[in-house]
Amino acid sequence: MAERIYSIYRVPIREVNGNAYIVVKGKEAAVIDTGLPGYSEEILKGAYSLDAKISHIILTHYHIDHTGSLKDLKEKTGAKVYIHEKDAPYLSGKEKFPLPSTVPSEAIKLYSAYRYVEPDFILEDGDKIFGFKVIHVPGHTPGSIVLYDGKTLFAGDNMSNMEGKIEGSPAMFDWNRELAKNSIKKLLELDFEMLMPGHGDPVLEGASDLARRSIKL
Ligand SMILES: [Zn+2]
Ligand SMILES: [Zn+2]
Repeated sequence: MAERIYSIYRVPIREVNGNAYIVVKGKEAAVIDTGLPGYSEEILKGAYSLDAKISHIILTHYHIDHTGSLKDLKEKTGAKVYIHEKDAPYLSGKEKFPLPSTVPSEAIKLYSAYRYVEPDFILEDGDKIFGFKVIHVPGHTPGSIVLYDGKTLFAGDNMSNMEGKIEGSPAMFDWNRELAKNSIKKLLELDFEMLMPGHGDPVLEGASDLARRSIKL
């Protein structure tokens, strides 16, 4: 019988052209980012329709368009929450969000709906989680990470797909633009066939070549 190794599903986060992802291995699922508040049911239904139980919630960074439905989803699934150590204090509310002054006030307003969650596990550069390697890429936020398995890159906000053109992280939202640029440069050295960006459509083939051609820093 044919056996599925893993499969990736996307839940579009419509207001921000963003993405939450469900990675299914057998009967187990990892959710990578949870979208804005109000998306837990869609994510849950997605996993349910795939006959998979959500055991992991892995966050690429603390921003609300990636963590907004986290608390609901954790309460409904009991899944374990993973985030890099440098973003953990913002997720749990122990430290104030280090948002740069360039963030538009409309976006800052979203943070009044932030629901703090204590992570279950702290990630560090080089960790392995759900078959993916954790790469720490500071700059967009202090604890931004990507997940990489040699074929697929879950890029968080370090790469987005804007109508077929790959862009680096959005400068106005970057905590430290210089660090962010260095991190994007580091990512452009990786080879990956598929890109699962934080915003915009996934790229299913030739993604790292496309990224190298598109991104201007
Ligand atoms: Zn972000
Ligand atoms: Zn984002």
